[in-house]
Amino acid sequence: MSTAAHQNVVVVGSGIAGLTSALHAAEAGHRVTLVTKDALGGGSTPLAQGGVAGVYGPGDSAVLHAADTMAAGAGLSDAVAVDVLVQEGSARIAELIARGVAFDRDAEGKLLLGREAAHAHARIVHAGGDATGAAISRALVAQVRSGDIDILEHALLVDLLAADGAVHGIRMLRRVDADTGAYIDVHADAVILATGGTGQVYAHTTNSPGATGDGIAAAIRAGAAVADLEFVQFHPTVLDAGDAFLISEAVRGEGAVLLDHEGRRFMFDAHPDGELAPRDVVARAVARRAAAQGTPVRLDATMIGAARLAERFPTIDRVTRERGFDWAREAVPITPAAHYLMGGVVTDLDGRTTLPGLFAVGEVARTGVHGANRLASNSLLEAAVFGARAAAAVATHLFRSQKMPASPSQNGTIRDLNGSGLSRRALQRLMWDDVGLLRTPGGLTEALSVIRSWRADLSAPSTRAEHEDANLLLVAEATASAALARTESVGAHHVSHEYEPALIGA
Ligand SMILES: Cc1cc2nc3c(=O)[nH]c(=O)nc-3n(C[C@H](O)[C@H](O)[C@H](O)COP(=O)(O)OP(=O)(O)OC[C@H]3O[C@@H](n4cnc5c(N)ncnc54)[C@H](O)[C@@H]3O)c2cc1C
Repeated sequence: MSTAAHQNVVVVGSGIAGLTSALHAAEAGHRVTLVTKDALGGGSTPLAQGGVAGVYGPGDSAVLHAADTMAAGAGLSDAVAVDVLVQEGSARIAELIARGVAFDRDAEGKLLLGREAAHAHARIVHAGGDATGAAISRALVAQVRSGDIDILEHALLVDLLAADGAVHGIRMLRRVDADTGAYIDVHADAVILATGGTGQVYAHTTNSPGATGDGIAAAIRAGAAVADLEFVQFHPTVLDAGDAFLISEAVRGEGAVLLDHEGRRFMFDAHPDGELAPRDVVARAVARRAAAQGTPVRLDATMIGAARLAERFPTIDRVTRERGFDWAREAVPITPAAHYLMGGVVTDLDGRTTLPGLFAVGEVARTGVHGANRLASNSLLEAAVFGARAAAAVATHLFRSQKMPASPSQNGTIRDLNGSGLSRRALQRLMWDDVGLLRTPGGLTEALSVIRSWRADLSAPSTRAEHEDANLLLVAEATASAALARTESVGAHHVSHEYEPALIGA
């Protein structure tokens, strides 16, 4: 048995949550293996644009940050978890700086603070203008590579090894093994899941291609509690051209407005804060307006000016131009897309799940911070704060058993059902239409029944894509059933008991 100070820790995932946990666990003296399904530093983290909330300028405070977080969560956030987030946030931002993240500063060297929707103050630090996540990922990856951590890239978590009600390791599939379907078991005193969200269950998402809910699906199969899966945040402003490229909320923070087909600002019809209303309010208003007018809503950022747009949002400036739009001169078409999962694997304040030996951090976890809706730029912060806490808690986790685990239950694969009309695309479309922005009891019931019939016909997967498909189907079932169980609209979960016209198909 390992001593408390020197445990074998497997961290799964290399976004901000996994990298932070791995670094803290290694620095605490544990033997750390970092398993990640693509190259190190993938996931949604490098895509993050807006920034990290939590440096408090004049007139602002942790108390006010907590109040904004609680308001966004629509009364369902856990006040104690929120308090931990805002109290420990500054230390984690200082740590990111110490680890090499060059957040943007003014001429005097002070951190530049941006303001985003539903934040009462400017408190968002950003790097490279709109390339915050990439800067964080680069710095943490460099630290992990130079540290004493075993790194297994292109290694897919397939299942958790669970026995006697505890988790003892993981089963994985490495790319070199994918052709033969050989699985490798890695035993551990503690497993820290940091596998990110589930955006790929929807037809339109800002998330990375690997956001297939693998960690949540594995946790469900192992018997860990999950909660709040019905709370999916849809980003309101994704460029409606090609794949879903996000136009950060910070652009609206700088003054950009949303226009209908007549060039009228319509957001004040839906909320007194207009374009800076909570995300779900903006996303639903955009979807409804687009459905009503039959063409996409447009985002007008022309008043910000070409120089400022290029300086403050260099990535968006480049990508919009690559896609044929000059956003300094014209309003651009946008659509909502699935963006962030508030729910996930249930944890305490130290990342412990309901299964001894299993921790969860970052977007895969449900810490209680976000309640029914996430405040913009709180997720990178949450991953850093609770990633560090989970690594610290590993030392206090007493490993209970060295018993060989039972084989995990098998998944199934969607691909085996070719010919029946089922495909990953069909599942994503079903989820978008019936378990998306606007939900009805009838639509949810129908979707759940279709998903269950698809799941009943599954056969054993062997390749990475097949495992991901099966995970998406399990996550879809859990999401639809959670949405059906919550009969009242709250936060990001909007259920209508009346007919609503079909949403825009974009
Ligand atoms: C476009 C975009 C912009 C955003 N902007 C912001 C922002 O400005 N501020 C903010 O706070 N938040 C933002 N977010 C949200 C934030 O980026 C994410 O919530 C956060 O990065 C999640 O970090 P994570 O470490 O939990 O997961 P991720 O960064 O998604 O990392 C998950 C990791 O797990 C690995 N993985 C997944 N499944 C497996 C498996 N089966 N086996 C092995 N490895 C696996 C992945 O390869 C990846 O390395 C944004 C998100 C997106 C998509």
